[in-house]
Amino acid sequence: MTHPSLPPARGKLIENAALAPYTWFRVGGPADVLFLPEDEADLAAFLAALDPAIPVTALGVGSNVIVRDGGIPGVVIRLMGRAWGEVMKTGELELTAGAGALDLAVAKAAAKHGLTGLEFLSGIPGSLGGATRTNAGCYGRELKDVLVRLEGVTRSGERRTYGAGYAPVEFTYRHTDLPDDFIVTRLVLAASGAGDAAEIAGAIDTLQARRAETQPIKEKTSGSTFANPDPPGTPDQRSAWKLIDAAGCRGLKVGGAQVSPMHCNFLINTGEATAADLEALGELVRARVFDASGVSLRWEVRRIGRLHAGSESA
Ligand SMILES: Cc1cc2nc3c(=O)[nH]c(=O)nc-3n(C[C@H](O)[C@H](O)[C@H](O)COP(=O)(O)OP(=O)(O)OC[C@H]3O[C@@H](n4cnc5c(N)ncnc54)[C@H](O)[C@@H]3O)c2cc1C
Repeated sequence: MTHPSLPPARGKLIENAALAPYTWFRVGGPADVLFLPEDEADLAAFLAALDPAIPVTALGVGSNVIVRDGGIPGVVIRLMGRAWGEVMKTGELELTAGAGALDLAVAKAAAKHGLTGLEFLSGIPGSLGGATRTNAGCYGRELKDVLVRLEGVTRSGERRTYGAGYAPVEFTYRHTDLPDDFIVTRLVLAASGAGDAAEIAGAIDTLQARRAETQPIKEKTSGSTFANPDPPGTPDQRSAWKLIDAAGCRGLKVGGAQVSPMHCNFLINTGEATAADLEALGELVRARVFDASGVSLRWEVRRIGRLHAGSESA
């Protein structure tokens, strides 16, 4: 697609917009068009009027994606700005938040209101929209465990609500069955109970300190590259990092991409990596793990876009 005829919008529309700065890996090509909707009505009207042949991709804060070097075809939608990041207490044990809110901000807002059960969100460096799509989780809890309902907009611009009493949605390990081009705009989340604000804030600080000791959170990375081969709860669950370590891949490099010496299920961009380097390194790791253990690792990081400028492959 070169110059799509785009419907009018109140928010910003930017053609050939660089995306690498919006991703943790800092790699990848541009979006044909980047749309920063002003609010949900703006998003819905834009999608309703957009040529249905033009693909649409949501991008959160890019902490779980490799945007490929050829960039993303069609329209990329990011929910940026104060309106999308609002977090409000809307019930005794309930918060309502925009899908652009950072998970950490939601955890901190819960703490401020003396609400327990949302602390785990502080360990996930993404937005609520991304957390919904990936059913993000850590420390034994996942987004689905705290979700009351979610709202969003379909590709054709229709507003839809999912959750108890609304359209059904299924969450599994790091996955939801929401339509691929559904844009999540708002979530209602349930806390487990009431507690002391300072104690909850202290628990968040402890979780964050633990993360900093065990994960390369200051690097250009995207978290766990591969899903653990066995679902959570499986007895003697095998972990991806142990298989990668046993296959001798800790510190392995392709171009500017490296398997993190600190946590070998994390890939890092050491400075000049391309998306192709990261993907090639990931595939090399998969091949070595398969040779060493017979396990075929599944990518958890989402690889999106065209391999090369002008190519159609996505
Ligand atoms: C250091 C580090 C540690 C991490 N630790 C964890 C962890 O413990 N647990 C965990 O689960 N993950 C972890 N991750 C991965 C990542 O933070 C999560 O997957 C996060 O939920 C992704 O959110 P995001 O906003 O960055 O989404 P992106 O990476 O921008 O997008 C991820 C997916 O969500 C979709 N998406 C984004 N916004 C929306 C929206 N509004 N509507 C619909 N779809 C949308 C995108 O299209 C894409 O498919 C970690 C990442 C890093 C870098």
